Amino acid sequence: MAGGRLRPAIMSAFNQELARRLAALREQGLYRELRRVDSPQAPHLEVDGQALLNFSSNDYLGLANEPALKEAACQAVQRYGAGAGAARLTCGSLAPHHELEEALAAFKGAAAALSFSTGYAAALGAIGALVGKDDFLILDKLVHACIVDAARLAGAKLRIFAHNDTEDLEHILQWAERQVGRPKSTADASRPRVLVVTESVFSMDGDQAPLRELVALKEKYGAWLMVDEAHATGLYGPNRRGLAEELGVSEQIEVQMGTLGKALGAAGGYICGSRTLIQYLVNRARTFLFSTSPVPAAVAAATAGIRFVQSTAGQQRRNLLWQRVSDLRSALANQAPGPRPPALAPLRSPLPGAIIPLLVGDENRAVQISAALRSRGIFIPAIRYPSVARGQARLRLTLTAGHSLADLEQLLAALRTLDFGA
Ligand SMILES: *Cc1c(COP(=O)(O)O)cnc(C)c1O
Repeated sequence: MAGGRLRPAIMSAFNQELARRLAALREQGLYRELRRVDSPQAPHLEVDGQALLNFSSNDYLGLANEPALKEAACQAVQRYGAGAGAARLTCGSLAPHHELEEALAAFKGAAAALSFSTGYAAALGAIGALVGKDDFLILDKLVHACIVDAARLAGAKLRIFAHNDTEDLEHILQWAERQVGRPKSTADASRPRVLVVTESVFSMDGDQAPLRELVALKEKYGAWLMVDEAHATGLYGPNRRGLAEELGVSEQIEVQMGTLGKALGAAGGYICGSRTLIQYLVNRARTFLFSTSPVPAAVAAATAGIRFVQSTAGQQRRNLLWQRVSDLRSALANQAPGPRPPALAPLRSPLPGAIIPLLVGDENRAVQISAALRSRGIFIPAIRYPSVARGQARLRLTLTAGHSLADLEQLLAALRTLDFGA
């Protein structure tokens, strides 16, 4: 093993095997590749040297490139440096982390908050800390990959309920209750626990969970509820805390999760809830314990993002976003059909939403349509398995407060020329 290098024959067998797997992905229309963006997040992007109008960002309020957030990040770098140096529980719990968590708790109206390096890490850490192999974990069929991965890692007994189907969930809760048996007392510490996890606004479909009904069910069966507000934080409710606030159930949800990387414009994840929950996660959430804390720039930008969302300007951005959503929805509904109009998913909720999926079905077809749109100056990547089920490929169109009416016109003109049929 001269020089410690793998022998060429081994390397080449390794690469051949991976190349074979990649070829299989290509055949199924599931191959993915990176596109280099040479501009900040905005409706107008420079992608691989081409100017494109972007309809795929989760930067719903246009905060990713907002001066107040950039300024806060720069100041944090000046004051606290580029790196955090260590995990939170050693010497990496810097003032900006504490400021962020205070701002988060106040924003969400929760007793306490804990920040993580990503939303993904928040899900993995919280679920893994709360349930183990003797417990039951019940997930909506369409929850995000990070919750699915958390479930695998936690090793709890896993059941999936049909998407937003409270009847199906109730059957599973009844089944779990039979497995658990009657508690000797409500404080019976040895009793297996049941944790239900869902999203408030679903990332790939844009529809909303019936949170009031879910809360009523989990209370009826003594289960715990965790809600991922990744696509709702900053957008719903009088204080823009999320859909739980809009529906008046925030205080009945044991674990409120979200990301700082979407409407809040920065990066990171969070869990909000009781002080005891947060103390418990500080002690038990492995993605919190065993990972270097987020850099000062990211947490300071997130704090500024929260402050922005809470301000009058934040409210105006949110209103502008809903105005654009309504503009686009009515234009799509009234559009004279092209060769085959996009299968606009029916609006299944009375509330507006920034995620508007155009269903295609076939994976290769979705990739072709996305490429055709790109040649017309529109950027909407094809979303395919494993982000959505096989045969459910789609263009996941998202709007942000930064889109102008002229941008919508350009999108509609491009869509008119396309054939969405399978
Ligand atoms: C994006 C997303 C996450 C992950 O958050 P990150 O901060 O990007 O890691 C979790 N849940 C949902 C529903 C998401 O869309």
